[in-house]
Amino acid sequence: MAAIEMRNIVKEYGDGFKAVNDISLDIADGEFMILVGPSGCGKSTLLRMIVGLEDITSGDMVIGGDRVNEKAPRDRNLSMVFQNYALYPHLTVFENIAFPLRLNKKVSEDEIRRRVKEAADMLELNEHLERKPANLSGGQRQRVAMGRAIVRQVNAFLFDEPLSNLDAKLRGQMRTEISRMQRRLGTTTVYVTHDQTEAMTLGDRVAVLRRGFLQQVASPRELYEQP
Ligand code: ADP
Ligand code: ADP
Repeated sequence: MAAIEMRNIVKEYGDGFKAVNDISLDIADGEFMILVGPSGCGKSTLLRMIVGLEDITSGDMVIGGDRVNEKAPRDRNLSMVFQNYALYPHLTVFENIAFPLRLNKKVSEDEIRRRVKEAADMLELNEHLERKPANLSGGQRQRVAMGRAIVRQVNAFLFDEPLSNLDAKLRGQMRTEISRMQRRLGTTTVYVTHDQTEAMTLGDRVAVLRRGFLQQVASPRELYEQP
């Protein structure tokens, strides 16, 4: 069974413009799927429909076997990482990462500490747990945002251009970290980017969008070897 199944998904905005036009795509359990294409091709809209931040005009969104069209974002059990990190400025790194766990009253303090440490280890944040976001570098902030995403067990991670605010060197470094983290956790991942390098190095498969249509889906190697 696919982790995420999109069946004939359409997003039509008020003026009748179709930002997403009849897209069907299956994402396998544990797969790292890239959504790539030029600005305005509909990648963010599609991602936002997976998360539930945008209503679907027609079609079916199925996550973990459940049709989720009418489900609120919090009931879809997904973690999203945005390009602007959306950290809580008054909370420490520890509390920022712990935040999603604290929403679930059933998770004990010990369990919270264990999981935050584990995420912080993976992201090399253990030295910084007591600091506030304002005192961190851009790369560290992005790591905190990722820590918050991976601290829960979820159906999938969703990334919306998470590296676009970082400089080239840091981008390369974070690319490697994201790849390592995803392989270690084995969590299904959907990653939106307009960056060819990210598309070709991170994904198991790449879905190429153009003007709201799904143009092709292929492995990076297949895309690379295309004439
Ligand atoms: P991408 O993420 O690939 O840059 P988007 O999904 O943000 O593209 O946008 C796809 C298309 O839908 C664009 O042409 C954009 O202008 C349009 N669009 C996005 N949001 C809205 C909206 N709320 N109302 C009308 N058009 C929108
Ligand atoms: P991105 O480039 O990251 O996809 P945008 O700057 O295109 O972001 O869009 C930012 C916000 O503006 C989104 O919430 C999107 O839905 C909205 N938006 C984008 N295009 C339009 C549009 N043509 N009309 C109304 N809202 C839009």
